[in-house]
Amino acid sequence: MPMTPEERYSRQVLFRGIGAQGQQRLAAARVAIIGCGATGSALASLLARAGVGALRIIDRDYVEPSNLQRQSLFDENDAAESVPKAIAAARKIAAFNSEIVVEPQVADLTPANIGSLLAHSELVLDGTDNFETRYLMNDYAVEQGVPWIYAAAVGSYAATMNILPGETACLACIFPAPPRGVVETCDTSGILNSAVNLAASVQATEALKLLVGARDQLRRTLLSFDVWSNERSEISTAHPRTDCQTCAKREFLHLEGKGRPQITLCGRNSVQIHERERPIDFGEMTERLKPHGVVRHNDFVLKFWRDDYEITLFPDGRAIIKGTTDTAVARSLYARYVGS
Ligand SMILES: [Zn+2]
Repeated sequence: MPMTPEERYSRQVLFRGIGAQGQQRLAAARVAIIGCGATGSALASLLARAGVGALRIIDRDYVEPSNLQRQSLFDENDAAESVPKAIAAARKIAAFNSEIVVEPQVADLTPANIGSLLAHSELVLDGTDNFETRYLMNDYAVEQGVPWIYAAAVGSYAATMNILPGETACLACIFPAPPRGVVETCDTSGILNSAVNLAASVQATEALKLLVGARDQLRRTLLSFDVWSNERSEISTAHPRTDCQTCAKREFLHLEGKGRPQITLCGRNSVQIHERERPIDFGEMTERLKPHGVVRHNDFVLKFWRDDYEITLFPDGRAIIKGTTDTAVARSLYARYVGS
């Protein structure tokens, strides 16, 4: 006998904050999740199970064995096959909730594509691990008047804040420059999966409140919690800063792409080359690279190993080069094997 939506969501509908009407609103909602690592996995899983009707999952990366400790939507096969995280997430979600629409997007969020990738999303959720992307999201959200929810987790520390443009402080009000402490990354400080899940749980709950229209219940603070030391703090975000460059002066430098690097360090020992906009034919590229090293590809990524380097190439020409933190070396490997 087929499952009815009434059965599937019965325990959630019983909760007074949601109810039957709230559940209908969730079914009609369209949400974008940017980044599908640990936070994004937890978010996507919670919101998909809760019945959010359309989820757009945007991620630039592929699954690796070191992700499995905390990135709850992925399994060993995904890592063995280097499946892009957005695709792997969509497959997993389809297995437990085939009634919602998931739109996976294997892409790096940039000033050039943010408008099309986030169009039609009424709420944007931060599952990223870097402030460059968050400032870009903040610019877009403030300019468009779309709410978004920041979340960060590193070590045993979790933090989250709701940004309601025109109402609360924005990210740049609170962090005019990237904060110290959270700039440590999971690659350098490690991470507890429970810290990530705490951030994502609070973030997903705030998302539900917003989507069902319970705006008076939304938290107007930057909440941070250390699950190891049990230290916690809350800073009010109820009022935007009157001299904020982004929400007061409406200068959207990140959206304009000012000073955006073409090459960034990503992770402990790798460099990303992005925005190449060079469509790659994996079949052709495989033939070309075969004489130079080990090469294999699936529909989504091509991997090439040579000496101590591993080059992962995406169909749009973006590449992640492992085995170096030297951007010059990465650029030269890209030029040599992919083309300049
Ligand atoms: Zn602001």
